[in-house]
Amino acid sequence: MVADFPMVALHGQASPRDGLVMRMFSICLVAGLMSTPQADPLQILATTPDLADVVRHIGGDAVEVQLLVPGAVDPHKVIPKASMLLKLKRADALVSMGLGFEHAFLPALLEKVGRDDLGRGASDVSQGGSRHLVGSDFIGQPLEVPTQLDRGAGVDVHPLGNPHWNTSPQLMRKYAVGARDFVSSLRPASAEVFSTNWKKWDAELGKSIEHWQAWLAPARGKPLVTYHRSWPYFADAFGLVISGEVEPKPGMSPTTRHLAQLAQSMIELDVQLLLLEPWYSESKLGNVPKMTKVSVIKIASMSGKEGYLSWMGRLVRQVASAWDLAEPRVGKEEESSVKKGAD
Ligand SMILES: [Zn+2]
Repeated sequence: MVADFPMVALHGQASPRDGLVMRMFSICLVAGLMSTPQADPLQILATTPDLADVVRHIGGDAVEVQLLVPGAVDPHKVIPKASMLLKLKRADALVSMGLGFEHAFLPALLEKVGRDDLGRGASDVSQGGSRHLVGSDFIGQPLEVPTQLDRGAGVDVHPLGNPHWNTSPQLMRKYAVGARDFVSSLRPASAEVFSTNWKKWDAELGKSIEHWQAWLAPARGKPLVTYHRSWPYFADAFGLVISGEVEPKPGMSPTTRHLAQLAQSMIELDVQLLLLEPWYSESKLGNVPKMTKVSVIKIASMSGKEGYLSWMGRLVRQVASAWDLAEPRVGKEEESSVKKGAD
């Protein structure tokens, strides 16, 4: 009730005692303001949980990160909504994957929100504005960039090259450098804190990569099959070979003939594992699991609430287990100290 007291004095008759209370209140108010000089946290909107997790680690208390699309979902099937437009209007800055990863929703939203600082939508989908960080700008040469546009052969949801670069921990490391510089440019006063936070994140990721690579080293050159082309960057990062996909082209459902050919090649190459995102129906695999006895690993091609390091660790563990690979000692202690990302 102390907080109400000065209000009574403001509305009632002033007395010498009230004056003293008011002076004390003013002193407290000024002291209170002086003791909290921080600006409001930067409001950053990220399109995926992976991108968000990295910005949260680097930004610390100086940023608040929201997701434009909630959780781990099929990026090619996201429908733009009015609530997303509202989030875009309110955000200080936007972070996206790029390479058309957000083709289903972001260009339409950017066109509608009319903020030049976030980019201009469909006509300019690959380039962010001054307040829009496009993660793929930091990954070097993308994989599977088509040499020519083949519009006659049906759907291909990867027309700019493969956009699922988050499945490579090394590329997430490169993106984190871009994210550090981006938040520093938006809030130079916190640049030192961002740099310190980034160093910690980078060291944790570096140790984890060392551990994961040692774990999967005996599998170098081994073939695997995936439902969608979400995993070439993962395979590249660990020296694995993707010998086929269930989808004949990204976004296209398999025909019976395609499944029969795939099963045949999997038997010939002795393929032992198949990666399937939970948003694809297992029934689309047809008789492939029965014919080949492959281990089907169901895992999303992005992290959810658990954070990037935990998700990638889980992926590596499941892949290693399908090939019966024992966990090595290298980097193990360090990995157990890695904190989960907040969500
Ligand atoms: Zn895709």
